[in-house]
Amino acid sequence: MTTNAPELFELDAEQREILHLADRYGRNELHGLAERMDAEEWWPGDAFRAIGEAGFLGATISEEYGGAGMDLLNAGLVLQGFSRWNHAMALSVVAHDNLCANNIYRNGNADQRRKYLPGLCDGSMIGALGLTEPGAGSDALGSMRTTARRDGDHYVLNGTKIYITNGPVADIVLVYAKTDPDKGPQGISAFVVETDTPGFKVAQKLVKMGYRGSQTAELVFDDCRVPAENLVGTENKGVGIVMSGLDLERAMISPLCLGIAERALDLSTDYVKTRKQFGRAIGNFQMVQSMLAEMYVHVETMRTFTHRVLAAAARVEVGEGGRGDIHKLTAASVMYAAQTVNKVLDLAVQLHGGTGYIWESEINRLYRSTKLMEIGAGTTEVRKMIISGELLKDMPRD
Ligand SMILES: Cc1cc2nc3c(=O)[nH]c(=O)nc-3n(C[C@H](O)[C@H](O)[C@H](O)COP(=O)(O)OP(=O)(O)OC[C@H]3O[C@@H](n4cnc5c(N)ncnc54)[C@H](O)[C@@H]3O)c2cc1C
Repeated sequence: MTTNAPELFELDAEQREILHLADRYGRNELHGLAERMDAEEWWPGDAFRAIGEAGFLGATISEEYGGAGMDLLNAGLVLQGFSRWNHAMALSVVAHDNLCANNIYRNGNADQRRKYLPGLCDGSMIGALGLTEPGAGSDALGSMRTTARRDGDHYVLNGTKIYITNGPVADIVLVYAKTDPDKGPQGISAFVVETDTPGFKVAQKLVKMGYRGSQTAELVFDDCRVPAENLVGTENKGVGIVMSGLDLERAMISPLCLGIAERALDLSTDYVKTRKQFGRAIGNFQMVQSMLAEMYVHVETMRTFTHRVLAAAARVEVGEGGRGDIHKLTAASVMYAAQTVNKVLDLAVQLHGGTGYIWESEINRLYRSTKLMEIGAGTTEVRKMIISGELLKDMPRD
């Protein structure tokens, strides 16, 4: 079987340094925000500017536009480091940096890049991506009902997007809408919508069980007039942008899972050394050791697969992706990472006993969040459909 990923993969010195710097920033600057973000669904308004000033935003965008000029693997390492300390902020960063900014960078024209990327890179602007709708989740393209009708030098958008990360705080949203509803997925286009445009509304901020500091919204477009120059790419060719973007997004969700799993292993290792029962630290008991060993194996296998697939996804050129080996591989990476981080957190809470069940504990905060990883960016079932679809693409269908 052939894939475009190397069989063996190891981080080099520069990549290890980037992970170290992101880890240090996460520990020093983001960890202290995490508890309040979770308790109150609080959004620290200055955080993105600070992250931008530290050079972590616009990770994959060239320095010409104020970005860090990294490849996708290094951008994923930043997320891994952040996710260890503040996974909600890491989710907001990936929605901003990968789903929105990187998509505009890869698919936008020179004017759009010049207009939007510097603000996204320095954190003065927050970005989001709007694909999912109340009636269009797993079948996001086929069931999409949001329309964009050309009217002179504008498009008029009507419809609703739901579960949009950064929706309540975004300055711009990369929105998918049908420009030719009769053509199904071949009639979809992408637009940059500035959120102060009349007709755009945050209909509601959604309250979540986990990742609570990351802001999520339902967005409504009611005769929202968007300048025609904000069309990204070619009219009716949005499907290529979505599919290629989703492959990169899936590769980037895996390091989010990995960072959480690493933190859970660290917290659990510390806990079993200090928590005493039957007169001894619980780490002395073989069943406790067994759980810890299982967690370790899960984390190490996640790490290997995550980094290897990020390295492969970093080589995806504009216009590629959404099909073939990389489509299968990125779906496999996120499917494995998402299922495995849930297993890790289940063991971690078990090891913490009652402490792990208490809302305020850090391990509980992580536990409440991990289910999302099996839902967002395509569910586990959608990921299985992608993998099996690629494996069986030559099979004659009954
Ligand atoms: C916190 C959060 C943040 C999100 N952020 C964003 C964002 O920033 N931008 C954005 O556009 N979207 C975002 N999403 C949306 C996310 O991508 C969707 O929730 C996801 O694609 C699933 O869609 P759905 O929720 O409508 O579930 P549904 O599609 O209704 O699925 C329900 C169940 O049916 C299963 N199912 C559906 N079809 C099939 C099938 N053919 N075969 C087998 N099983 C099937 C699913 O796997 C699932 O188990 C976010 C979601 C959440 C919860």
